[in-house]
Order: sequence, then C-alpha cells, then structure tokens
Amino acid sequence: MTALLWLRRDLRLHDNPALAAALEEHDTVVPVFCLDERLLSGRHRSAPRAAFLSACLAELDRDLRARGSRLVIRTGRPEAELPRLAEAVDAAEVYAAADVSPFARRRDHATARALQPLGARLRLRPGCFVVDDPTPILSGAGTPYTVFTPFHRRWLAEPRRVVLGAPAELPSVPREIGSDALPALGELPPRPAVAPGEAAGRARLLEFTSAGAAGYGRAHDALSEAGTSRLSPYLHFGCISARELESRLPEGVGGDQARRQLCWRDFYAHVLRHHPGNVEAEQQGALRRRIRWSRSQTAFDAWREGRTGYPLVDAGMRELALTGYMHNRARLVVGSFLVKDMGIDWRWGERWFMRSLLDGDEANNNGNWQWIASVGVDPQPPSRRMFNPTRQMERFDPDGAYVRRHVPELRPVPDEYLREPWTMPEELQRRVGCVIGRDYPAPILDHAQARREAIARYAQARAAADSARAPGDDA
Ligand SMILES: Cc1cc2nc3c(=O)[nH]c(=O)nc-3n(C[C@H](O)[C@H](O)[C@H](O)COP(=O)(O)OP(=O)(O)OC[C@H]3O[C@@H](n4cnc5c(N)ncnc54)[C@H](O)[C@@H]3O)c2cc1C
Repeated sequence: MTALLWLRRDLRLHDNPALAAALEEHDTVVPVFCLDERLLSGRHRSAPRAAFLSACLAELDRDLRARGSRLVIRTGRPEAELPRLAEAVDAAEVYAAADVSPFARRRDHATARALQPLGARLRLRPGCFVVDDPTPILSGAGTPYTVFTPFHRRWLAEPRRVVLGAPAELPSVPREIGSDALPALGELPPRPAVAPGEAAGRARLLEFTSAGAAGYGRAHDALSEAGTSRLSPYLHFGCISARELESRLPEGVGGDQARRQLCWRDFYAHVLRHHPGNVEAEQQGALRRRIRWSRSQTAFDAWREGRTGYPLVDAGMRELALTGYMHNRARLVVGSFLVKDMGIDWRWGERWFMRSLLDGDEANNNGNWQWIASVGVDPQPPSRRMFNPTRQMERFDPDGAYVRRHVPELRPVPDEYLREPWTMPEELQRRVGCVIGRDYPAPILDHAQARREAIARYAQARAAADSARAPGDDA
C-alpha cells in the first residue's frame, strides 16, 4: 500500500508525526511538495522566504535520498497535483501536518474534495505546534481565549505527545514517478540571520537548549546580545519541531520563560483559527475600525528604509533589511513607532514584515501587529503599548552596540548623544562627522507630541464607536 506525504510547513525528518503515521500504515511513502504559485506570488510573497524555502527543500531531498527515498516536486495547486500523483502511485491516503490559517484550511478542503472521486483521503496529523492542536483549548465557558495568561495556564496542562526520532531508512519512491526541477527561488537577504534547512535548525536547537536557554530570562531583551534562540524561521518552515524544542528546554527560569514564548506561538495559532477574519480586519471590531490611519507613503518609506532619525527604530529596520530578522524588542519598538507615533495603518507594517522576514508567519505576524496597534487580542489601553524609542534604547541597548552595528553613520557619535543625536551641538556634529540632516536624518516627528496625538486618535475612535454603537456591535 502506498501513501503520499504532503509536506508543507513540516520540512523535516525528525519528529514528524505525518511521516511516522504514513510509514506505520504503508509500505511505500511518496514525499511531495507542491510549488503553488499562491505561495510564491500571493499576498504573502517574499523573496527572502522563497529562497529559504527553496534551500530547505533541496536539503530535504538530499536527506531523503540518503535514506533511500526522494522528494517529488509538483508545480501547481495541490488540489490538482495531488489527485494526479495519488492516482499514478495508487495511493489511498495523503498525510499532512494540520495548519490553522484560513489559506491552509481552504487548501485542505479543496484537496480533500479533489481526492474524494479517487476514494483517497486527506489525513491530518499534528506537527506544527507544541500541543497537538491549539484550537480546542477553550475557557471554562467553552469559548476561545482572547487573553494570553489564562490560555497559557490551560496550555501548560495540555497533554504532550512523545517526540519521534528520524527514520534511519525510508522506502524508495517508484522510479517512474517524475519530479519537477526545483527552480532557484527568491533571494536571501545580504546577511541572512540563519542558514536554511533542518541540519542548521537542529544544530541551533541543540545549542540553544543545552546552553543559551538557561540564561534566556536574563538575556532575551538585550538587543546586542545573542540572548534569544533565533529559531523562528526554522519553526515557521518546520525545519525543527516546536514540540521537540519544548521537550529539550532546561528546567528553571530560563527554560520556563522560553516555553512561555513558545506558548505565544500556539496562542496566535489559536486566535487565527478562531478568528480567520483577523487577516483582513481588527479583532476588536467596530471600535478600532474607526481609527483614522495615515496613508503617508513618504513617512512609511522613511520607516521601512530606516530613516526616521530615531536610532533604535532605524537600527531595527536596517537589521530586517540586512538579515531578514529583527530582535523581538526592536519589532515592538518599530511597530509602536509606525502605528502609534506615525499613525500609519498597522496593515502596512504587517505587509512589510511579511515581505521581509525569514520567519514571516501569518498567525504570529498578524497577532503581534494587532497587539502592538491595540486592536487585537489581549486588550490594554493604547498608551500602554506605545514605546518611547529613546527610553527603550536606554534600557535594552544601553551601550548603543546594537544601534552602532546597524546604523554605521552613528558610530562616531558619543554615547551621551547616541539616543537623541539631534541634541548634539552643531560643532560636535561637524567634528565627529555626523551632521544631522546630512549624514543622519533629523527626527521625523516629536515623540512626546506624537504620543499625545495617538492617545487622542484612539479616544476619538472610541467616542465615534460609542455614539454609533448598534445592538450586537462587538466594540
Ligand atoms: C510586530 C511584530 C511582528 C512579529 N512577526 C512575527 C512573525 O512573522 N513570525 C514570528 O515567528 N514571530 C513574529 N513576531 C514574534 C517575535 O518577535 C519572534 O517570534 C521572535 O523575535 C523570533 O526570534 P527568536 O526565535 O529568537 O525568539 P525566542 O525569543 O527565542 O522565542 C522562541 C520562539 O517563540 C516564539 N515566539 C517568541 N515570541 C513570540 C511572539 N511574541 N509571538 C509569537 N511567537 C513568539 C517564536 O516561534 C520564537 O522562535 C513578531 C513580533 C512583533 C512585535
């Protein structure tokens, strides 16, 4: 008996439940990846992620071949390609790892329907998250969670599956089954934060869990230190298993805090699964949809190119362009700056991140952008999630190492002026070779004033929503 293993966001051989289930129940397993144009040129198209994906697939093919199998690439939509392949190899089962996004679920439905006339079935297995399925973790009232802390409590108590090893050998793929060539896709950023593939992901996973994770509680917010795991791209593509990562975390504060961060990932998957409309609109509904966002392309360009004149914001945006990654603390600061200080629609930032991040992930990105814009789950007054870039730099980049690494024109600026270089006396600007307005931009706005305006903007939206509130409105 033959099965297809439909790989999507589980590009690995270790701890892959769909692979294990296919092997347990079938003599022959055909691993297949569908190069679907919607992945490569749809709304979340991204040159860096396409290149990362392509390298992961090439490595997976090598790893499969080393075990006697190989990866079959099919160019096209799975609902067209998989029935054709299933028919060719006489497969009655197609195994895949269950995913939560509206796109993934629509794709599953379409594929399952297309397999039906052949008498073939799509069989979903866990593998993308720490818990098998974050969807049915419900409150005492039987409703999905919209606040993180109680979700986290329930999530900790969820059962965990046993972590699986990688199979030593695999059945061969019938010779007559052809594969499309894997084209060169996209382009990695100039200095990618991490190298693609399962081997690099596993090496980092083992290094983090055996050494880095113990100090995670202390170091995870320090911008210039390698205090976090940098495993997010591997988790996104499934080069490593979130469940295995969790199982290897050390006991103690560092391990507990890293586990809590992983829970955010499952939480946002839970949120997106229950609120698929979030991909387009604010979770908080009528209230937040009344916010009047700026549509200033000039201001947006300054933000995305790291030219706002606020050193920490510019460092974060340039780290993103250079490496395809940005430290979480910097993501919070640049997100708050775009949405609250500049008043620009959070969707613009969300889209730019999806285009640029190696770990760009619909659930995590959308959830975090809505969080920072104070329009999503885990609601708090907007002013609580409005970060002062100068103060944030004082706390999380006190010696300016992160800023100097990513904003070379600020390297000669003395420490006491680095957070607000525009306060440097003109004579000093000339002497150190960093003239504001010439070598480095003057600040695009005044944070204190922008903060007052943001608070007023949100208050206006609330007032407008209150006066227009209709029965059943969810504001
Ligand atoms: C505006 C904004 C956009 C973001 N977009 C993404 C995104 O597209 N993809 C993405 O994976 N993360 C996103 N994050 C969350 C977070 O910044 C990254 O997961 C983290 O920086 C990745 O680095 P790391 O692997 O070293 O994380 P670590 O600190 O080592 O954490 C371990 C893992 O936990 C998960 N995690 C940690 N923090 C979060 C969080 N806040 N939300 C969800 N999962 C989390 C990630 O999978 C991460 O790899 C975003 C955060 C913000 C503020």
